[in-house]
Amino acid sequence: MRAAIFKDIEDIRVEEVPQPKCPEGGILVEVHYCGICGGDVRNYHNGLKDGVKNQIMGHEIAGKIIEVSPSITRFKVGDRVAMAPDVSCGECWYCKRGLVNLCENHKMLGTHFPGGYAQFIALPDEVMTRGFVEPIPESMTYKHAAFAETCAAVIACQKRIDVSLGDDVVIIGDGPVGCLHLEIARARGAKKIIMLARDKIKLAERFRPDYLIDNLDVNAATKRILELTDGRGADIVILALPTVVVQDQALRIVRKRGKIVIYGGVPKDKEISQLNSNLIHYNEIEVTGSFSYSATGLSDALSALNSGVIHADMHINEVVSLDDVVKGMEMIQTGKALKVLIDPWKDNPALPEKYDIKKGFTCTR
Ligand SMILES: [Zn+2]
Ligand SMILES: [Zn+2]
Repeated sequence: MRAAIFKDIEDIRVEEVPQPKCPEGGILVEVHYCGICGGDVRNYHNGLKDGVKNQIMGHEIAGKIIEVSPSITRFKVGDRVAMAPDVSCGECWYCKRGLVNLCENHKMLGTHFPGGYAQFIALPDEVMTRGFVEPIPESMTYKHAAFAETCAAVIACQKRIDVSLGDDVVIIGDGPVGCLHLEIARARGAKKIIMLARDKIKLAERFRPDYLIDNLDVNAATKRILELTDGRGADIVILALPTVVVQDQALRIVRKRGKIVIYGGVPKDKEISQLNSNLIHYNEIEVTGSFSYSATGLSDALSALNSGVIHADMHINEVVSLDDVVKGMEMIQTGKALKVLIDPWKDNPALPEKYDIKKGFTCTR
């Protein structure tokens, strides 16, 4: 099979590798789509976790099961499944308390296990029991299912900070994650959604935030938000940008007893911020983080997508072949696209049955 392999930092190569066998206690899946994650782009430039090399990347996967181990009762050949990366240990203090996203021995598809930038993926027993493999709802396309993992962490974040009916929400960041936060905040009943944008304004515009403000002039943008929230500030501020620079601004645009959530990591050498502790103290502001999702995260996302509250087609702008993985990453970085999917069968002469050159897999989608 063909696979895009992370050889080393900024070196991904497409190679012909042996098709994996169905592992004992596991399943073998024909990959239909694999999303390129913002995390993949970071890892391409900075390296995979634990210094892993020579690995097939990718963890936002949707495909069809072509083989199952006899011990698997949950799935059968032909089932359509979506996958997410995290595999928890089931043994540590956090796992015992059901907090699988905080597992101390957490592993990932595309890092510790071969990922989805390939035509096939084998999921071993460990992934089947401690990871995320969910059936794709009948009416959902593989494309949309491959987008579910991206949605899962955003949905979990807003559950955690409890974005609710009537809330004024500010989202700092106009990238793919910011746009998803916008849609989910709206679905949860937020009243006024204000987005602070910079370089992807044109893409963000299509999601129709109530107010889209250019954050180039931070002071002017801050003033405008206070005007829009009766001088009080927003109920909730979501930081959806990989930088600490805007954290201080968040404190100035959130109301007393409001909540700020730091969503997504920042580069390791730029992780220290200086927050005005008096603002946190006197205004009783809650500053928190949100990472990954609970055991139901992927199925929550699949049902949100299936119900139509997230407009997946507006997020997915490009489908590229394995050979164009790096090009796809560049599209995300430059803001040309919000979400890019890889179709590992695209532009490939050895096509499986029922694959239409123009439309991709046409069966059961
Ligand atoms: Zn991801
Ligand atoms: Zn654990």
